[in-house]
Amino acid sequence: MHFERAVVTGGAGFLGSHVCTELLRRGTHVVSVDDFRTGSPGNLRDVRDDPSFELLVADVAEPFDVPGTVDLVLHLACPASPADYLRMPVATLRTGGFGTLHALELALGKGARIVVASTSEVYGDPLEHPQRETYWGNVNPIGPRSVYDEAKRFAEALTAAFHTEHGARTGIVRIFNTYGRRMRAGDGRMIPTFLRQALAGETLTVHGDGHQTRSLCYVDDLVRGLLAMAESEHTGPVNLGNPDEITVLDVARLVIEVTGSRSGIRHVEPMVDDPRRRCPDIQLAQRLLGWRPRVSLRDGLRAMVDTADRALAR
Ligand code: NAD
Repeated sequence: MHFERAVVTGGAGFLGSHVCTELLRRGTHVVSVDDFRTGSPGNLRDVRDDPSFELLVADVAEPFDVPGTVDLVLHLACPASPADYLRMPVATLRTGGFGTLHALELALGKGARIVVASTSEVYGDPLEHPQRETYWGNVNPIGPRSVYDEAKRFAEALTAAFHTEHGARTGIVRIFNTYGRRMRAGDGRMIPTFLRQALAGETLTVHGDGHQTRSLCYVDDLVRGLLAMAESEHTGPVNLGNPDEITVLDVARLVIEVTGSRSGIRHVEPMVDDPRRRCPDIQLAQRLLGWRPRVSLRDGLRAMVDTADRALAR
């Protein structure tokens, strides 16, 4: 399916900037709506001079308008790193609530397909493993991480209601931890933190005993899955992530190996409400979208180290 003109909220962020690049490559005109609160103009370096790219600097939690036709809205705007959303708790809830409302109203008004980026964090600290879309989750509604988790749960409820009540062409994807080029060294997420530490020859800091697991998806795989969902008319939610589960300690060891670093590993205090296990069941994505990840963690880390972000070491 070909889209003529897409709106990407959060287009200046880590995932959003890769989505903009891929849509432009596929011949779609792109309008990125972003206020740069966690993204950066530098992420748009590859696309900003493309005549098919437009940038609207706006807070999606406030009403905004995109004149002209739009046939796809990808709603990605939201602080995603714990370090970011813990720093701006109320703004994160406003973005998840009002921001999602405005994105849905835009799509409904234009008759556009909309895909809303939700997260594996809606499963909280899961009691079911691996997590299927039918699992309702185990979230602390007033814990520090709730500003993100509950904002996304509300965003999902709102999206489902727009479909039921207004017939909006909605889709929800639950994105599991994704990594790749353009993550900020200081954004607090595990991969850029480990890479920065390894490249700088510093000790890698592992929270808790390091036996908690993560499942890490390379950004190119994720973008392919997101656009496959956009091209479908499925409402979801659909999990998008890499089901290869690995302990945090083994991630740290792999980063040291791939970077050729001589860094050691040090354990620090566990993070509050940090999930013990995290692994997507992606059978639904495989069946509905014919999608599954292709890039191993080792290859993804190598690509990140090679292409990128020697800047991470600074
Ligand atoms: P990011 O912080 O790099 O990007 C978010 C972008 O949204 C930034 O450019 C930021 O400036 C913009 N933004 C935030 N609030 C805004 C607002 N109110 N108005 C306008 N712009 C705003 O994060 P990311 O990793 O690229 O995540 C993108 C989306 O994917 C988020 O919705 C996130 O919840 C979801 N997600 C990401 C991951 C992951 O591993 N990266 C996992 C699960 C879900």
